[in-house]
Amino acid sequence: MDKNIYKTDIGLEVHVELATRSKMFCSCAVVDTTTAPPNSSVCEVCSGMPGVLPVINRNAVELAMKAALALNCIVIETSFFARKNYFYPDLPKGYQISQYEYPLAVNGFILINTPKGEKSIRVRRAHLEEDTGKLTHVSKEGGTYSLVDLNRAGVPLLEIVSEPDMHSVEDVRAYSRKLRAILRWLGVSSGNMEKGTMRFEANLSMRPEGCEELGTRVEIKNLNSFRAMELAIIYQMDIQRTKLDKGEKVKQQTLGWSESQGKTIAQRSKEEANDYRYFPEPDLPPLVVENSWIEAVKVSMPELPDVRWVRYRDAYGFTGEDIERLLEDKSVSDYFEACLAAAPKLAPQRVANWLLTDLFAWLNQNGKSFMDMGLSPEAFIQLLAVVDDGTINQNTGKEVLAEMLASGKTAEAIIAEKGLKQVSDGSLITTLVAKAIEDNPGEVKSYLAGKETVANWLFGQVMRAAQGKANPQVVKEKLNRQLEGLKH
Ligand SMILES: [Zn+2]
Repeated sequence: MDKNIYKTDIGLEVHVELATRSKMFCSCAVVDTTTAPPNSSVCEVCSGMPGVLPVINRNAVELAMKAALALNCIVIETSFFARKNYFYPDLPKGYQISQYEYPLAVNGFILINTPKGEKSIRVRRAHLEEDTGKLTHVSKEGGTYSLVDLNRAGVPLLEIVSEPDMHSVEDVRAYSRKLRAILRWLGVSSGNMEKGTMRFEANLSMRPEGCEELGTRVEIKNLNSFRAMELAIIYQMDIQRTKLDKGEKVKQQTLGWSESQGKTIAQRSKEEANDYRYFPEPDLPPLVVENSWIEAVKVSMPELPDVRWVRYRDAYGFTGEDIERLLEDKSVSDYFEACLAAAPKLAPQRVANWLLTDLFAWLNQNGKSFMDMGLSPEAFIQLLAVVDDGTINQNTGKEVLAEMLASGKTAEAIIAEKGLKQVSDGSLITTLVAKAIEDNPGEVKSYLAGKETVANWLFGQVMRAAQGKANPQVVKEKLNRQLEGLKH
């Protein structure tokens, strides 16, 4: 029997915690919910007391705008907050303030690289909302109970919703990683999935190849790692394909991913939007972002990784692998930029090689992080400059770099302290070579008689006289020239 061919359509809803200092609608500090004592950063507003008023966090709006602009969205001048009503113990107000019909940003896209080439994934909308608290379900000594921690309640969230433009697990992988990279690059969010600052939900449906209409979709929640998301999608694709092959219908429902069981589990039948009884938030004015504000945010944004990628390739001729490593982390790329700015004469490829090879090797070997290494770009290029001008050779340079990283001293100080400077001063070496020839007439005679190895011995004499600090290349050249001269 012929197997049917299906097309899979996948969309992602991504919740990211914005990297603000305070919460979305109150002045409570945003704390690390995995380490802070429970309910230590809570006030009347975020705990849902009656008679209090929310105030919009300006910084949250700015970070959301940065993200929206980087995702090529249109930022809407006037957007509105709405109440999304539902009862849950981690939401004491009984509703979540979100944006519904009028989101902050719409109609963007992200370019992704997949094994099948570059693709554009449309971003339907990006809107602001607040996070809920956290529940911990405990089962102890026969009894069960739940603990409520409201530290996370009211933390600003940006929800980014894509169109169902992804058709494979590879697409999802590329989109989610690219999105995270952009948000981290901009400092919009830490994107730390282990701490829950970035969470994914996927919607997925399948249809026979060639069919225009999308199939019935399921939503998969609780996807807290890239791995969980990929496994859940592969699992659901399998289930749906089997059902469709048998002529069965896929039921529209909300599923959760169980890490331990390695399968999706039905949570509830899909709620409709009107289950939430959305209505405009009466306590907040419309969110107005004037054009001048949008422009100011645009100006404040750093060069985006896609733009830098092209520059590194076209202006410096770097390979894809070098570019990828430089752009993996904005702090590394910025460090590289600072090096080039401080030393325009150094070849960019040399700077990149020292950075990606020698510097990173030392950090790896010593279990140190780039952020805490304490070596400024200025100090780093000072070392590269003295290797470049022959003051010390490449190998000595590597030793000096290790010493700089370990001790925090400058290259200059280490070279002076350890007497590592090579003598490449022409006249001094000429004098030393002449002296070696003059002091060893017997050896010179046997050299002239054809005993070539004596040249090596004389070379050793000069290097010793220079206390090993002479540039060996220069010594070799001068010695050979003087010995050649004696032959005639
Ligand atoms: Zn608060």
